[in-house]
Amino acid sequence: MLKVGRGGSVTLLARSALKCSGSRRQQRAPVKTERSSRRCQQPVGNLLLEAVNVMALEDKRDKSMSFTQMVIEEDSMRNGRGLSDQWADSVMVRPRTTERHITVHRRLVLGFAISILGLIIVTIIAVLLSVKFEECSNDGSTKVGNATVYSGAKFNQTRESLSNPNPSKIAEKPWAQLRLPTSIKPYHYDLNLTAFMDNFTFTGEICIWMHCVNPTKYIVLHADKLPVEGVEVTVANTSEHLGIRKYFLYPQNQVLVIMLTRELKAQKHYTATIKYSAKIADELLGFFRSSYVTNAERSYLAVTQFSPTHARKTFPCLDEPVYKATFKIAIKHQESYLALSNMPVDAIIHEEDGWITEQFSPTPRMSTYYLAWAICNFTYKETVTKSGITVRLYARPDAIQRGSGDYALNITKRLLEFYEDYFNVSYSLPKLDLLAVPKYPYAAMENWGLSVFVEQRILLDPGVSSIPYLLDVTMVVVHEICHQWFGDLVTPIWWEDVWLKEGFAHYFEYVGTDYLYPDFNMEKQRFLTDDLHEVMLLDGLASSHPISQEVLQATDIDRVFDRIAYKKGAALIRMVANFMGQHVFQVGLQDFLMEHMFSNAGRNDLWNKLTETLQKIGKTINIREVMDRWTLQMGYPVVTIGRNESSGDTLTISQEHFIYDHTVKSVNPAFSNNSYLWEIPLTVAVGNLSHILSETMIWINNKTEHHRIHFLDNSSWLLGNLNQTGYFRVNYDLRNWKLLIDQLMTNPEVISVGNRAGLIDDAFNLARAGYLPQNIPLELIQYLSKEKEFLPWHAASNVLLHLDKLVDRNKEYNIFSQYVLQQVAPAYNLLGWPEDAVNSTVVQASYQTEELRRKVIILACKFGIALCHEKAVSLLSEWMASDHNRIPPNVRDIAYCTGISLMDDNVWDFIWTKYQSSTAVSEKKILLEALACSKNTVLLNRLLNLSLNSQMVPDQTTIDVIIHVAKYPNGRDLAWKFFQDKWNVFKSRYGEALFMNSKLIKGVTDFLSTEAELKELKEFIKNVRAGADASFTQAIEIVEANVRWHGLFEDELFQWLRKSLSS
Ligand SMILES: [Zn+2]
Repeated sequence: MLKVGRGGSVTLLARSALKCSGSRRQQRAPVKTERSSRRCQQPVGNLLLEAVNVMALEDKRDKSMSFTQMVIEEDSMRNGRGLSDQWADSVMVRPRTTERHITVHRRLVLGFAISILGLIIVTIIAVLLSVKFEECSNDGSTKVGNATVYSGAKFNQTRESLSNPNPSKIAEKPWAQLRLPTSIKPYHYDLNLTAFMDNFTFTGEICIWMHCVNPTKYIVLHADKLPVEGVEVTVANTSEHLGIRKYFLYPQNQVLVIMLTRELKAQKHYTATIKYSAKIADELLGFFRSSYVTNAERSYLAVTQFSPTHARKTFPCLDEPVYKATFKIAIKHQESYLALSNMPVDAIIHEEDGWITEQFSPTPRMSTYYLAWAICNFTYKETVTKSGITVRLYARPDAIQRGSGDYALNITKRLLEFYEDYFNVSYSLPKLDLLAVPKYPYAAMENWGLSVFVEQRILLDPGVSSIPYLLDVTMVVVHEICHQWFGDLVTPIWWEDVWLKEGFAHYFEYVGTDYLYPDFNMEKQRFLTDDLHEVMLLDGLASSHPISQEVLQATDIDRVFDRIAYKKGAALIRMVANFMGQHVFQVGLQDFLMEHMFSNAGRNDLWNKLTETLQKIGKTINIREVMDRWTLQMGYPVVTIGRNESSGDTLTISQEHFIYDHTVKSVNPAFSNNSYLWEIPLTVAVGNLSHILSETMIWINNKTEHHRIHFLDNSSWLLGNLNQTGYFRVNYDLRNWKLLIDQLMTNPEVISVGNRAGLIDDAFNLARAGYLPQNIPLELIQYLSKEKEFLPWHAASNVLLHLDKLVDRNKEYNIFSQYVLQQVAPAYNLLGWPEDAVNSTVVQASYQTEELRRKVIILACKFGIALCHEKAVSLLSEWMASDHNRIPPNVRDIAYCTGISLMDDNVWDFIWTKYQSSTAVSEKKILLEALACSKNTVLLNRLLNLSLNSQMVPDQTTIDVIIHVAKYPNGRDLAWKFFQDKWNVFKSRYGEALFMNSKLIKGVTDFLSTEAELKELKEFIKNVRAGADASFTQAIEIVEANVRWHGLFEDELFQWLRKSLSS
């Protein structure tokens, strides 16, 4: 195994340092023994920063929560508790988030009368505190079922006024609260680990330096299943030990409680040193192991995944994002490995018997969830940015040697430069390592300075990777690099605002990719089909939820990292950027980052900063007021623009909550329309056959409004939501739909590419939900024969494939496929297949053309154009005959899939063999997924079973394989049955890590569409007792919608198709 040089000179640490329990600062000599290297130390620099850090944290907490806490000593409980509970119940309005634990610390003395006296004092303090508390960022929602609902009057109230800052219930057991008590705040951690890679265990010694905010006898830290071997608490910088009455783990809240014999004093500093040992986990969370095979030799590595709440599985800490601190990490391991962490190595100490300790520089202030380390024997390539940041990509040696990491390394360098320029804030650390690991619960994790990626999302082999694969890798990298600012430098205060960091990083996937490839036009175009249209499908369900979700406890947190958070977050941010203007928005972001760097911020901090930025250029829009409607209410509106027949230029514009299932509105009062109103930045264009006559923007705040629009006459059409920058759908009266369709049929380019794609998506979804007759979308796509751009084809392909799933069991299915083929054939005949893969490069010059061609071929082969089938078969046969693959990378997946579905079983075996021998991760992925296209159920069952074989199929790929089997009519029932049979395997295998993304559940259920299938789904959910799982709730709603669609609209659709094809 190759141990790679670390670059730069490595010296032994010989700087002033503090021993955790020492009585004064000590000069620390170079250390060589295990024992001395594992002492609790703190760099002197940190102490100088410490006061500032503590003040900064206090500031932040003052804004977001109150620190006072009422703790009743056990011996005074008898009198104090009942009364105080009663008092708390009568006056407390529970805040919507737990950021505001309102507690007051008072020791209640014995006796009823004195309790009353104490109560009065507490009340006075609470009232005084409430004045300060008014600054907190709050919202005024109340929950009804899944939906957050506003009554008109309540809406203007902010969370401050709803969350009366009176003290909450007395906490006689501070560890029993869902959130950590606020009595202590950490400002520095010294963490010394010894990792035993032979038996996958580790020992740890953590020293937490903390500031006491309020007197307390309890130190409550997060610790999840960590066997603690010893605890010491001292007054910082002294040898004065505090007596420990006892310490214990409280697993319900994943905390370690240290009970002291006397109180910590407010404003004093203390240290807690804890020794423990644990396993390097098998499940992909906390500090876990993984392995890979090169030349028949298995190598191991261990890596961390702490987000959102898994740092506590590896060391005791205050594992909430607001508790930022500095970290100094040292890792002892066998010499044959190397260790990585957020910061560069400060010193390597050679220990006895082939062991070394790597000490890392202290980090800046940061939260626990993006702390990271890894122990591996990877090699790397490196580059340096203009501003001197060293960027390295670490991966298994064979991948580095092949150059599979070069692409990601190069774009990372450019992206760091882009973001430094865009945000006007330098990257904060001296280095950034990207680590490509074979097994990971997520695509990637943005650990500051050490971002971790699963191999399939970062390694790319030039010459065999398609454009979609290249885009995938690019966007994952762009996303994680964005987080180095949004997330790492400025961190959400609490998890209810996780969408803010994720929404930003997701939005910047498009902005950053545009920087790398200006021709791709990602933000203006691809965003629509890949993000906006996709999330509106999900957010149009009654089982959706507000993007800003209440998170009370650890177990709620995974739930908020869902597609709504990422995709709707990005769509809302895009809407703000567009109505503010991109440049003004950028200036606002720069100011926001500057103000909150190395600290935490909530959504209101951002909205206020953006409002301020607008004010500076003389515009008055209260962004917070506007955005609260979009973030605290679930779903989105459909805006209906109706033309007034009597007065030509007057419009009636109304808004209502778009929902696929109308019946919900009448059944559930939470969905009554009056509760759902948005402030909508509606852009409107008027045009005629040759050009656009006018464009204007109107804010729609009421349920119904009337507006006059210039240049509107009988022959001109209206178009709303220009370039689809708004997060809503638009519907029109039927006459206007017809005018728009005429426009598309005669001269489509008068309408922007974004709006052509938008009209397709809106029309199909409005029809699916019953807002529009079924024939309108089908008439609309007749213009596709004239469409030369990729984006509208992409939108059409998405909605058609969706519709296809609903109708492919209909006995008249062929008239549907015939109709689609009529629209696709002209484009297919024009474009055909790309030339052979001679000198093919991954970055094609004509991305739009290649993507368009790809989309049209997919539709042509799927809906059965014979020439398309013949071409796919001939490409595959030629490869099999010559053993030389000349199929262009961009269409390989289509050729493999179509070939396997049409040819004999030998092809399946050939592709399976190629899958096993291929080394390029992108190629492996499409070979495996192509196997799912077979029509042979024996082979499909074989594939499903193989997908669970970890030696053959990586764990994270299993889900994709099953979803692919479920995509095709022959595999659906098999995949659904397999999923049910293996439910327990999936549950134990992926646990909390992968199930949250719900991809699998959706993949194996969203085609179910009969009453019997719905019943079967419900019974399965009941049997496995997974009723509360959001993915299952969603699955039921989607299947119910499918069943309802069949009942209400299928006949109407086929009637129209019959008429259309016979005319
Ligand atoms: Zn992210």
